[in-house]
Amino acid sequence: TAAAIEEPIKPAVQVEYTQLLIDGKFVDAASGKTFPTLDPRTGEVIAHVAEGHSEDIDRAVAAARKAFDHGPWPRMTAYERQRILLRAADLIEKHNDEIAALETWDNGKPYEQSAKIEIPMLVRLFRYYAGWADKIHGLTVPADGPYHVQTLHEPIGVAGQIIPWNFPLVMFAWKVGPALACGNTIVLKTAEQTPLSAFYVAKLFLEAGLPPGVLNVVSGFGPTAGAALASHMEVDKLAFTGSTDTGKVVLQLAAKSNLKPVTLELGGKSPFIVCEDADIDQAVELAHFALFFNQGQCCCAGSRTYVHESVYDEFVEKAKARALKRVVGDPFKGGIEQGPQIDSEQFEKILRYVRLGVESGATLETGGDRLGDKGYYIQPTVFSNVKDDMRIATDEIFGPVQSILKFKDLGEVVQRANNSRYGLAAGVFTKNIDTANILTRALRVGTVWINCFDTFDAAIPFGGYKMSGQGREKGEYSLKNYLQVKAVVNSLKNPAW
Ligand code: ADP
Repeated sequence: TAAAIEEPIKPAVQVEYTQLLIDGKFVDAASGKTFPTLDPRTGEVIAHVAEGHSEDIDRAVAAARKAFDHGPWPRMTAYERQRILLRAADLIEKHNDEIAALETWDNGKPYEQSAKIEIPMLVRLFRYYAGWADKIHGLTVPADGPYHVQTLHEPIGVAGQIIPWNFPLVMFAWKVGPALACGNTIVLKTAEQTPLSAFYVAKLFLEAGLPPGVLNVVSGFGPTAGAALASHMEVDKLAFTGSTDTGKVVLQLAAKSNLKPVTLELGGKSPFIVCEDADIDQAVELAHFALFFNQGQCCCAGSRTYVHESVYDEFVEKAKARALKRVVGDPFKGGIEQGPQIDSEQFEKILRYVRLGVESGATLETGGDRLGDKGYYIQPTVFSNVKDDMRIATDEIFGPVQSILKFKDLGEVVQRANNSRYGLAAGVFTKNIDTANILTRALRVGTVWINCFDTFDAAIPFGGYKMSGQGREKGEYSLKNYLQVKAVVNSLKNPAW
């Protein structure tokens, strides 16, 4: 853990792009303003990035509009679009290590995670969506009467996309992949904490042959650039990933402006249920991963660890021992499991929740404080004796804080797990197939992971029940977010036969 306070390792990449990408060119914000993006290891400035405001969103939407209404992208063959997506994936693969370094520098996540999991995942996602590009087709409909009826699946138009900072490029791919595969054009607003990597990857799309104006990237803040995009009259569809509170805001902005359809991927407080038959060592390891992965900054983090009473004491002991062994430090160093949190705001918020946990009577087993005196490192933290109504059990903490709760039987744990405004995901750890089946059917969540967690294959749909969101991303389900259905009714009355 001492690594956190050592001199930060210099990333093996330069920041090349800091301007808005509009109509195929990097340009300054209309106001000329910039904002600093910070290194979470130190809080120091990495680069000053163009600060997009509503004028810039207007320019980007105009470019996307022109590319959609008059440009080649929606008009070229699906095969040509597919080949551009495949070329972009190849270029991303070729630049894997630079992109990974940029991602880690701006976000703080372990470089090994960026380089070996996330950037390869990005490549896989774009190849997956390239595969869809030439397999999107409508139906022939058996209507009553002398009619030949078909449906055309057409691109919806200009897609506005707003993404968060926890997985900057994976979120970019979940949004951009299906939108491009379906022939749309895009204005994407990156998160203000992590603007750097999307510029780099968008540039590779241009190199791959994506026509100018098809993918525009605007950096800037939520209430200005984000709100301008959500309320824009010329944007045909909005996709948002972020907090539930902001999700409510953008849904209202979309409704008040032009009623653009909205998909939302929001917060969570996912239960991870360890049943009595569980192999404790494996359950401890998986529950640890489910919560601590990505510094705990996952919307689907297994942040309510429900453990059966018969194995509870042993589980708590071992979960604490595992957290104590977690390797925290400079994310560029090999073997690091946990880097710093994203920024001072999240850092303070997490430490506030730790204090709330202690005040409400939960047992702080380990951690609970910052690590080192620089940057946003937090000790892996474990609470036991957590009760359902404590704030640490109801609110999304988005940090390395595990809350362990005890349960007696399945009926009770189902009721308690479902007693949340969220419904994003759940983990179930058991060898008993009946238990797994009961929990799978009873849990009101968008994903149930049985004896696994955080598997994010491109083909698996992801999204939330209840206040965790609307709609699904990834998989075939994601395509319908970016398609219009046109019914074509052709009269057969006139032909001579
Ligand atoms: P987080 O708490 O994870 O930062 P947010 O929901 O605030 O989550 O941010 C997710 C994304 O939403 C970011 O790109 C942010 O800039 C954007 N955003 C924040 N507020 C607004 C808003 N009022 N309108 C549109 N976008 C917003």
